Amino acid sequence: MQPSTPSGWRYTIPVALVAALGLGLTGGFVDMQRHLVAESADEVADQTISEAAEQAGQSLGALKGSTRAVTGLFAVQRNVSHHQYGAFVRRVLGGSDDVDSVQFAPRITSNRRGDIRTRFAKSQGPAVSTGTGSTDQAASGRRREYLPIMYSEPLIGHEQAIGLDLLSDPTRRAIVVKARDTGQAQVSEFRQTYGDAAQLVIYTPAYRNGRPPPTVRKRRAQWTGVALTSIRVSDWMQAAATHGDPDLTSMMLTDSREDPPKLLWSIDGTPLPENPELLTSRAKISISDDQDLVVAGFPAPELLATQGWWRPLAALLAGLLFTFMLCFSVWKWLDARRIRRTANDLQQATNRLRFLAERDPLTGLPHRDGLHSWLDEWSARNPERSLAFLFIDLDGFKEVNTAWGHPTGDLVLRQIAERLSVLSGDPDSIVARLGSDEFVVARAVDRGSIDGLATMVVTLVAEPIPIGDRDVQFTSSVGIAVRPEDGSTLDSLLVNADIAVREAKKQPADSVVRFDPVMAAQGASRRQLARSLRIAMRHPDRNFFLEYQPQIDMRTGSLVGVEALVRWHETGRLISPLEFVPLAREHGLMQQLGSWVLESACKTVAEWRKSIDAVVSINVDTAQLTGDFATVVSTVLGRCGVAPEWLIVEVTEGAAMTRDASRELDHIRALGVNIAIDDFGTGFSSLSRLADLPTHQLKIDRAFVSGLGESAESREIVRTIVALADSLGLETMAEGVETAHQAEILLEEGVYYAQGFLFARPLPPDLCLQMWSTGIAMPQALARH
Ligand code: C2E
Ligand code: CA
Ligand code: CA
Repeated sequence: MQPSTPSGWRYTIPVALVAALGLGLTGGFVDMQRHLVAESADEVADQTISEAAEQAGQSLGALKGSTRAVTGLFAVQRNVSHHQYGAFVRRVLGGSDDVDSVQFAPRITSNRRGDIRTRFAKSQGPAVSTGTGSTDQAASGRRREYLPIMYSEPLIGHEQAIGLDLLSDPTRRAIVVKARDTGQAQVSEFRQTYGDAAQLVIYTPAYRNGRPPPTVRKRRAQWTGVALTSIRVSDWMQAAATHGDPDLTSMMLTDSREDPPKLLWSIDGTPLPENPELLTSRAKISISDDQDLVVAGFPAPELLATQGWWRPLAALLAGLLFTFMLCFSVWKWLDARRIRRTANDLQQATNRLRFLAERDPLTGLPHRDGLHSWLDEWSARNPERSLAFLFIDLDGFKEVNTAWGHPTGDLVLRQIAERLSVLSGDPDSIVARLGSDEFVVARAVDRGSIDGLATMVVTLVAEPIPIGDRDVQFTSSVGIAVRPEDGSTLDSLLVNADIAVREAKKQPADSVVRFDPVMAAQGASRRQLARSLRIAMRHPDRNFFLEYQPQIDMRTGSLVGVEALVRWHETGRLISPLEFVPLAREHGLMQQLGSWVLESACKTVAEWRKSIDAVVSINVDTAQLTGDFATVVSTVLGRCGVAPEWLIVEVTEGAAMTRDASRELDHIRALGVNIAIDDFGTGFSSLSRLADLPTHQLKIDRAFVSGLGESAESREIVRTIVALADSLGLETMAEGVETAHQAEILLEEGVYYAQGFLFARPLPPDLCLQMWSTGIAMPQALARH
């Protein structure tokens, strides 16, 4: 047997495609947000770094200015004492924490004989070691020039520098010469003094008159020394990096003239990243006309956090939610579309079956059901018009059957049917065959034309029919009932027309009798029955009882429920519910009867529950679904101590469709009581509303089950019902299963629950209880399923 596919799986591919699309969009969206966050973090880092660079540049500028003031001191005063020097430097540069030392190296020359000449009093400075001096004209070896450091503030810690001739070292000499010739301060290569701390040294030339002379020649002639200001790079940068929020940016100073760039300083000792691309922000500090340092950095993780780290995450969540909603909507839409299609298929299949079921196979005329449908439809279209019902009974037809046999009888019936058919050419008329030799002609008429119609019918029937070598002529009796005065339902019209026919039978052949209420005395039996029913309702416990028909799971043979069916014991005779339920409905007794059924079923299930997990279904008529049935149910459940899930309410599709009824069903469902749709497939008007009903089970009508194995249509309909139930997430149960073959087909179609004479007839409660514990021996043919 094929397991039925759970409905959801059919949409896997489209939903997966949509999910992929949604996830793709989500990925893009998350990426965009990440990018935006990174970009704005970069912006902040750029800002911080360029501000730091600017600040550092400014403080360097200020230091250059201050150093110029020191050279100015030597221009205006010849004899500067160490004490004066220290005081002056402290005054000018007192506030700069980043300055390591400020030194001054005066220019000293010697003549050919080696006499030292200087603008500065010898006595003022410490001894000059001339031995290390270099010369402008080294080759000549005559005139010597020295640039010894003679002043230092602070002196402590820098003693070893005193006397160091700046011209003796080629690198320093080049800077000194450049400073001298350009008249501009030069910033030296950095030197590592102690540890790893980098230093920057500003070389500022001093001239006789303070300012640099206009020409190089004069500058060379008039320079008097060089001031050196050493700056501790770390302090300098630390002071510069106070803008913005430096903790949020990893910052470092590099000398990019070297390759790989040399790290001079970083904000908290971070090493230079191996991949220079990581340094997303850069700014230059111009230290002299042709020299730059680079401040570089990147946003620290904390900075990303302040720029909305949650934005990519929020985008991810929003994207996933969006994808989920999208998939859900698509799934819902596909499912709705499939339900619509299945519903359409079912409607078509049902229409076809109804068409077949409503026709009499012998004559091709509609039979009672067909007449019923036609009348319902016609009355809906013509609520005000009169309709004549001609009930035609052939006289002496039984004799034809006995004398010439059934084939001849069939031939006669076909002939008569064919002739009467001429009366049903338009939508306002129909000819139907009710029973063996009973026909009905129903036709919209004006008051005056009824007689003419009756005559026509009698004449058509009376025409001779050739049988063997003879022509046989039939007479008939015709009873007429007219809608609406003689009844408005098919039942009442037929009953009255039947009364009229019986009257006509008493009269000569070909008599036509119009129903007269006086004749209704003959319909008394029905009224008599109604009266008895009313009386019986006074003591329902005495007159009615319930039988229970097991509902089983055909895969296991175990009981899943029982259906309570009401029986009426009327003075020694058992009357079918098919007869008295409509009567109770007509006479307003249905609510009372229904409540009695509900209560006795509840008592039984409460009793059974002491030993087994019983569930009982009750049939609920339309007439019961008007008032406050849900309240009645809840009261009775409470009184009998029955849990709502032990009860199932069966209603027909038609009953469930009115607004009042579906509201009442909603209430019942809200109590926790399950609802099954009875006789499913026979008479619904609106399948679309079925989806909204609070149902849990569809009971496939007996008409379709009995056709299984005989008509392909029935199987088609069962299959469609299962598909529909599947789409709606409902169970199916087959009614009226009488043969193992039917059960087998049902199992093949995926219907697992069933009820029918094959398994058990309606039983008294004690037998039913017994069966519940033993289960049902399944027919051999089903064993392999
Ligand atoms: P239903 O609800 O369709 O009930 C099933 C009917 O099919 C029962 O007839 C049951 O005896 C019969 N049945 C079960 N298995 C088979 C089978 O294999 N073959 C055949 N041919 N028939 C089978 P029942 O008891 O005569 O009831 C007839 C209808 O009367 C019910 O049809 C239901 O519409 C109505 N009815 C019965 N009891 C109640 C009741 O308590 N309240 C209301 N409102 N209606 C009831
Ligand atoms: Ca039922
Ligand atoms: Ca049923």
